[in-house]
Amino acid sequence: MGEFSPEVIIIGAGLAGMTAAHEAILRGRRVLLLDQEGPQSLGGQAFWSLGGLFLVDSPEQRRLGIKDSAELAWSDWQGSAQFDRDEDANPRKWAEKFVEFAAGDMRSWLHGLGMRWFPVVGWAERGGALAGGHGNTVPRFHITWGTGTGVVKPFADLMVKYAAEGRLKLGFRHRVNNLIVENGVVKGVSGDVLEATTAPRGVSSSRKVSSGFEYRAEAVITTSGGIGGNHTMVRKYWPERLGKAPKVMVAGVPDYVDGRMHGIAAKAGAGLINGDRMWHYCEGLQNWDPIWPNHGIRILPGPSSLWFDAKGDRMEAPFLPGFDTLGTLKRILSAGEHSWFILTQKIIEKEFALSGSEQNEDLTNGGWREVLSARLGKGATPAVEAFKEKGADFIVADDLETLVGRMNALTPDAPVKLDHIRSQIRARDLQLNNRFCKDAQITAIHGARNYKGDKLIRTAKPHEILDPSNGPLIAVRLNVITRKSLGGLHTDIQGRVLTPSGEVLQGAYAAGEASGFGGGGYHGYNALEGTFLGGCLFSGRIAGQNA
Ligand SMILES: Cc1cc2nc3c(=O)[nH]c(=O)nc-3n(C[C@H](O)[C@H](O)[C@H](O)COP(=O)(O)OP(=O)(O)OC[C@H]3O[C@@H](n4cnc5c(N)ncnc54)[C@H](O)[C@@H]3O)c2cc1C
Repeated sequence: MGEFSPEVIIIGAGLAGMTAAHEAILRGRRVLLLDQEGPQSLGGQAFWSLGGLFLVDSPEQRRLGIKDSAELAWSDWQGSAQFDRDEDANPRKWAEKFVEFAAGDMRSWLHGLGMRWFPVVGWAERGGALAGGHGNTVPRFHITWGTGTGVVKPFADLMVKYAAEGRLKLGFRHRVNNLIVENGVVKGVSGDVLEATTAPRGVSSSRKVSSGFEYRAEAVITTSGGIGGNHTMVRKYWPERLGKAPKVMVAGVPDYVDGRMHGIAAKAGAGLINGDRMWHYCEGLQNWDPIWPNHGIRILPGPSSLWFDAKGDRMEAPFLPGFDTLGTLKRILSAGEHSWFILTQKIIEKEFALSGSEQNEDLTNGGWREVLSARLGKGATPAVEAFKEKGADFIVADDLETLVGRMNALTPDAPVKLDHIRSQIRARDLQLNNRFCKDAQITAIHGARNYKGDKLIRTAKPHEILDPSNGPLIAVRLNVITRKSLGGLHTDIQGRVLTPSGEVLQGAYAAGEASGFGGGGYHGYNALEGTFLGGCLFSGRIAGQNA
């Protein structure tokens, strides 16, 4: 690093780390930003993300006739978080401040940095139970133009600029193994310099050590991400309340999301809280074209696919596509390890989207023309069509008998009965003759189509699944896919790391997923979506303003 003597060291060059660096540099601090990966990975997970941001009472919402407010959002947040632990005091404060930010300055700050949003606001995580319970009352998921790459770009450009101006040093391939603590104060970091890598972004890189390093500074900010790429850790902290962790899970994050820094920070005296709170999805596919090991892709389902557990029982409300992630996960695990969507060609065309920047070429690299042709043109999006054709979890058949036969060939240890599946679908199809009915899923679809955005691009007109003119039939085997850590390093409202007894660990700060997106878990038990990138931006900003 030559003569550069940093005042602030940041561990992890993902979204939270870059945001913290930006804010600290604006205050005139000299910053050293370290990452175990190469320069090609600048931006971390956020690059791969869909770029969905939780914003409240935005112009995009208002244009669609959505009435939202900070009060409604905070009510939804509390109903979802269900804070019930003593250690939830700081996370709760973070959540309250974040909701104010999402309803206040967040959009104009990001707009000023160059971000723009797709005008149709998504309605993620609808909850589906009582008004005071989990879920978004209204659509709040704002997809950034450029998806995750559009969120990363303004900050990545700033990092390059600051580095050229000598205000920032970027230390890639620097893996931190230790926080240096003297007299109870964190004074710096030490670790390994890993050999240079040409591995493309997201691909596993070598862990061969070429030398070592040690740097000192007044403040060290940990922004090293969560544990979702480390299934041993996921299993260790898996919450029994959801059932047993499945034997087979796919990984929704690159393998550098390894959770190593959690243990390193704990050894230095940091308190970790809410490790048993996690956010994994039920709709995981094995990627037919993997980038990272065991690469899984999540389907972002519209509301119409019929959802069956591993025994072939259709799942009851609110365990419907797009409603209640962890409630559905628990319901699925009560019957087995995987679940099934059964749907029609009409549903896949209108409703299937995949999470991830690389799965949404139109929104990531295109403009209006590409989006309209991919979303409203014939067939599903090219990425979904590719999965339908090549994905190991997809089955397409002209009749139910063949479909179920092939489902059973894919999961011979958990066969489902053709007659049982047929009678449940037939009963559901019989509910379509009126504009009202008793089936909760069809009622929810009618509700969804009252929202312009859903009607336009997300929700197929209700139709009979077993009518061949709506076919062919499609079955998708769904695996549990690991993604986010809701718990992490316990921080106070300034982003300072706290010890297990609640004292400030002098010199140590944390932000982003490493800190449970703020405070050590500002989501509580459940997320409202778009709150992960938002939490990285918010907590990174605060840590950078204070460190
Ligand atoms: C496919 C996908 C889709 C997503 N979609 C959305 C979405 O639409 N909306 C949303 O809100 N969220 C979404 N997310 C989640 C969101 O992207 C992440 O939670 C967020 O980007 C985490 O950022 P971070 O900076 O905290 O950590 P990371 O991005 O994980 O960055 C941490 C960095 O720290 C480095 N590091 C770790 N340990 C060390 C060490 N010991 N030494 C040096 N470096 C280290 C890592 O190499 C990494 O580069 C998505 C995630 C994925 C993968």
